[in-house]
Amino acid sequence: MAVPAEKAVISSRRRPQFSLCKEDSKSGARTGCITTWRGATAETPFGLVVTRKGLPSYLTLDNLGKVNGVQGMHVCASHFFGRDALYPREGGSLSEIIGQEDASPLLVLCGLRDPACYNLNLYPAAGREKISVDTEVGVKAVSQQDYIDFVRQAQPDLCLSLSDDVVGSHSKRRRERAQQRTAAWLRDSVKCFGESDGALGSVGLIASVLATEDGEENLRQARSAEALASDPSVVGYAVMGLGLGESEECRKGALQSICGELPREKLRYTSGPNTPLELIEAIECGVDVLDATFVNELTACGMAMAFPADAEGPAVSGTGRGLNLNLWSEEFTHDQGVLVPGCGCYTCQNGFSRGYIHHLLQCRELLAEVLLEFHNTHHMCRFMGTIRAKIDEGVFSEYAKSFRKLYIHQ
Ligand SMILES: [Zn+2]
Repeated sequence: MAVPAEKAVISSRRRPQFSLCKEDSKSGARTGCITTWRGATAETPFGLVVTRKGLPSYLTLDNLGKVNGVQGMHVCASHFFGRDALYPREGGSLSEIIGQEDASPLLVLCGLRDPACYNLNLYPAAGREKISVDTEVGVKAVSQQDYIDFVRQAQPDLCLSLSDDVVGSHSKRRRERAQQRTAAWLRDSVKCFGESDGALGSVGLIASVLATEDGEENLRQARSAEALASDPSVVGYAVMGLGLGESEECRKGALQSICGELPREKLRYTSGPNTPLELIEAIECGVDVLDATFVNELTACGMAMAFPADAEGPAVSGTGRGLNLNLWSEEFTHDQGVLVPGCGCYTCQNGFSRGYIHHLLQCRELLAEVLLEFHNTHHMCRFMGTIRAKIDEGVFSEYAKSFRKLYIHQ
């Protein structure tokens, strides 16, 4: 019997594949590659561009395409929930909605929460079955079914199972309930994705593990997620609940214990890193994909990243805390130099000076953020390229050590 054309197209789609390339002998760092049926490929480790409604904050998709080394985006489902239902109401996958249908698509990872503004203290979980998130129409309680309906329509490459993220200040009872809810949502997601031979058949599920301050509990959660997620629909794991004000020790301990327990052939993601140093530390623990939220945050504050992104080396002149340039500072008023000498980004290559960007900020011209975002995104991608090269060369631990020294003793 002939298979209907539409069904044949869908069944020819495969879930994303992750292949491990090289593991660092002195740390958990590793390189790998993700490929999708749409033709997106991403070399790991890499940082996802954080988006608003599927688009970067300050750049158009066309402009993002001009930045060398961008490999993927984090899209939040919560940005697409309206007052009554999903927005837009009429069909269409995410790539159709945002107009990303070219020959070299970016990898798209979908989660429910916006990693740039979690607001966990303001909005507690809504009952047993739902989770409270920020949407365009205020706080909305979203069920797992709502989320999966969105994923079915949006067709991202990777999808995080829901996690009930909590901060350390929550009560023990609340934290235990968060673990139970996260595990239950994972169990339901595996069932849903595993049985699907239709619209969810080409989406790779990323199984969420909720990190805690308790090392033993982290091991238990990782083992339980691994047991729940042996299904082929699961292409990786996510260490969730980090980047919410926990201590450095707690974050590193959780990443180390959870990543150490997970199967090495599967992809690992975390939402946590808030600085380039935290990003390196997560990669040292074996994380492959991260949210680069600090890129947007720095741009919004009028800052340009200026730490040495290619390899070890002296910091660029004019940098302050975090090895960034604060373009609001009056010291740049008459500075005719580019942000980072030798930088290959659109802004630096076209000679936009520090003084000009300072002037644009003073005048509240949006072009300031556009020029800074070009540079910061490019700088982050260069940095990730250096990290991958150092892992491949077998000298990542030495590089991480010297980067930490430079970053801390700036
Ligand atoms: Zn630049």
